Amino acid sequence: MDLKQFITVVPDYPKPGIQFKDITTLMDNGDAYRYATDKIVEYARERQIELIVGPEARGFIIGCPVAYSLGVGFAPVRKEGKLPREVVRVEYGLEYGKDVLTIHKDAIKPGQRVLITDDLLATGGTIEATIKLVEELGGVVAGIAFLIELSYLDGRKLLDGYDVLTLMQF
Ligand code: 5GP
Repeated sequence: MDLKQFITVVPDYPKPGIQFKDITTLMDNGDAYRYATDKIVEYARERQIELIVGPEARGFIIGCPVAYSLGVGFAPVRKEGKLPREVVRVEYGLEYGKDVLTIHKDAIKPGQRVLITDDLLATGGTIEATIKLVEELGGVVAGIAFLIELSYLDGRKLLDGYDVLTLMQF
């Protein structure tokens, strides 16, 4: 299935000059959403994944159906102040300023094989920060899966040495 036909490119969103890749038109289509999910499930199975970790909010949309299908857990990575119990945190750079991501301290067992999911790989900053959280808790990043990769931004460079799956490239 050609998944790209389900992505809507929105010009000048959220800022002039940005061509936003809207995945909601893929999620809207049951066959396309299931097809994309099944591809990631197959990739995860081959890597004996034991837990899915995804950053809010679109990492949940990709990761949760994969977790359900595999019968493994899902641990959310959230912005600071959103998780109710003890967390580990990481600061990461944005285009302007800094942001913080957190995960519950007991979310991952040491040695657990983790798949990280998100909708889109741009500069790689979000996923680099997520990797840090997983590894700080002793998890093994055994795979990273995205729907979309913006190849011209070279986010893969930051993920050098990791096993990365992307279902579409722009
Ligand atoms: P990065 O940290 O790799 O630079 O940016 C990736 C993050 O920004 C992802 O969590 C993704 O959800 C969001 N993002 C950036 N650009 C787009 C876009 O064009 N479409 C979508 N759906 N998400 C984007």
